[in-house]
Amino acid sequence: MSNCIFCKIVRGELPCEKLYEDDSVLAFMDIGPIVKGHALVIPKAHHDPLTDVPTELLGKIMTVVQRIARAQRDGLGADGVNIHQANGKAAGQEVWHTHFHVIPRFANDGHSWNWRAQKYEQREEMQALAGKIRGALPS
Ligand code: AMP
Ligand code: ZN
Repeated sequence: MSNCIFCKIVRGELPCEKLYEDDSVLAFMDIGPIVKGHALVIPKAHHDPLTDVPTELLGKIMTVVQRIARAQRDGLGADGVNIHQANGKAAGQEVWHTHFHVIPRFANDGHSWNWRAQKYEQREEMQALAGKIRGALPS
């Protein structure tokens, strides 16, 4: 993908602060951290959306996500880590090359998610939605 900024980073046409790379996965610092130390983990090959990433590659990406999370804990003294993956415009995705945010969290880092827990008025509503998801699961 010639115009994709993450593909440009993979090709070395744009700079990045690299944390880790292997044959198929790259991890680097996010230039707009929501908490300082925020990292991104991407497949080197252009894949998007997440639902199209080959499962074997996804396993490799998640292995690196875990390694970065451990390094944020051990190297930065993070008290916790959030993993975030925006998939689609409605989910806030801005770069259209699948990526995982690995965000170190500290007791008083000042960040809070706008987490708006809702309620199902009727249990049947939840059951109906669950039925649709179950019905669409590949066997
Ligand atoms: P998303 O909204 O999940 O698509 O997030 C895209 C992320 O990419 C944002 O957190 C940006 O700060 C980050 N980003 C964009 N351009 C660069 C870049 N050149 N180097 C590092 N991170 C970047
Ligand atoms: Zn790309």
